[in-house]
Amino acid sequence: MIRLAWPDVGPEEAAAAAEVLEGGQLTMGEKVAELEGELASACGVEYAVAVSSGTAALHLAVLALGIGEGDEVLVPAYTFPATANVVALAGARPVLVDVDPKTMNLDAGRVYDGVTPNTRAVLAVHLFGRPLDWEELQNAVPPDVHLVEDAAGALGARWRGMPCGGLGELGCLSFHPRKIVSTGEGGAVTTQNGELADSIRRLRHHGISTDGEFDIPQPGFNYRLSDVLCAIGLVQLRRLEDLWEARHRLAKAYTARLETIVETPGAAKGDRHGWQAYVVQLDRRDQALAALREAGIEAQIGTYAVHRLSAYADQGPFPGADACYERALALPFHSRLTEGDLDRVAEVLDKVVSE
Ligand SMILES: *Cc1c(COP(=O)(O)O)cnc(C)c1O
Repeated sequence: MIRLAWPDVGPEEAAAAAEVLEGGQLTMGEKVAELEGELASACGVEYAVAVSSGTAALHLAVLALGIGEGDEVLVPAYTFPATANVVALAGARPVLVDVDPKTMNLDAGRVYDGVTPNTRAVLAVHLFGRPLDWEELQNAVPPDVHLVEDAAGALGARWRGMPCGGLGELGCLSFHPRKIVSTGEGGAVTTQNGELADSIRRLRHHGISTDGEFDIPQPGFNYRLSDVLCAIGLVQLRRLEDLWEARHRLAKAYTARLETIVETPGAAKGDRHGWQAYVVQLDRRDQALAALREAGIEAQIGTYAVHRLSAYADQGPFPGADACYERALALPFHSRLTEGDLDRVAEVLDKVVSE
């Protein structure tokens, strides 16, 4: 069986976790601030706030901007549904915007069309780690619309040399096992804005004030990340360049085998793909998925067309998102794959395509 994902964690991560366990301070200890400091520098920003998941990061980003009832937030129609869910859970309306089926990222022209007087923000995704063209996005919306990055899969990616996760007013990261840096579950919000950082710190910890007398000015959550997981995250983050190199090499090896068979992924010229996943596109996707599974190879659809979920079914049509939803295929992608494994994947796809 060739697995779809396999987090690259080993003895160093285990030792870091063991040290915290032995120290007895399992949460709200010093590992949190240490991880936050290194995340902020990795993204080229002043502040990072560690939270319990990428979804928690997105939720707090929306709430910290004061978005709620009566507000609209533009969200790609093709993304992991958490991007839309957090907007709805904040009481605002997620307005779906179609994607460019080639890049699978937001189509800037459609973003422009989606803006109304009620638009407060865009949740812009770098899908599968491919940097979204940030300048096109900035030009598509009025300057008072907040730009929030869903960089859940884009730690290590760069747009024109600048780290993804540091491009927006707020950036949201995930450390889920299918992301490049993994703590099992985990996430963070990044920002240059000290007030927003403070607000996110309060909201992740029940709403409790971060200075002065004990007070709760606004109710919050427990969205904290434990010291055990922060310690693992620190080791992972210090390995980020190596983890990225390994994924970059693997992506090149896949592309060399597949570029004449299917549409292979890549970044725009001058950008660096983050390689959260290796997602190809092809017409006979469902047949390919079945054939891979039949051959003992775990594969998966890319992600979801949000307007095809019942919670969001009142919007559309979105032909770009439909095309991605029907054609995208995520291939096994992790550091334990061998050249032989890649050959097996390519062989199965070649057979399906030429049938
Ligand atoms: C993984 C992912 C999320 C959710 O992150 P979790 O840590 O699993 O909550 C949100 N958006 C995108 C684009 C993702 O890839």
